[in-house]
Amino acid sequence: MLDLRPNCECCDRDLAPDSAEARICSFECTFCADCATSRFGGRCPNCGGELVRRPIRPAAALVRSPASAERYVKAHPACA
Ligand SMILES: [Zn+2]
Ligand SMILES: [Zn+2]
Repeated sequence: MLDLRPNCECCDRDLAPDSAEARICSFECTFCADCATSRFGGRCPNCGGELVRRPIRPAAALVRSPASAERYVKAHPACA
């Protein structure tokens, strides 16, 4: 199941499960649209893969399969 992380790994901005601003790579590294575009040029700084818009999990599905509550932040050089 896709790990819906609650924040941007770079700037720590909140990313709700229904946010259209969330970007994610194939390893579930999660960023906000601003960081993904302006800091990383659409490439994940961890794996070099594509960052694409994270699909929204419908509210009804979130009841049974809740989003992750675990915040993850990593200091990338571009995040400074
Ligand atoms: Zn960010
Ligand atoms: Zn990645």
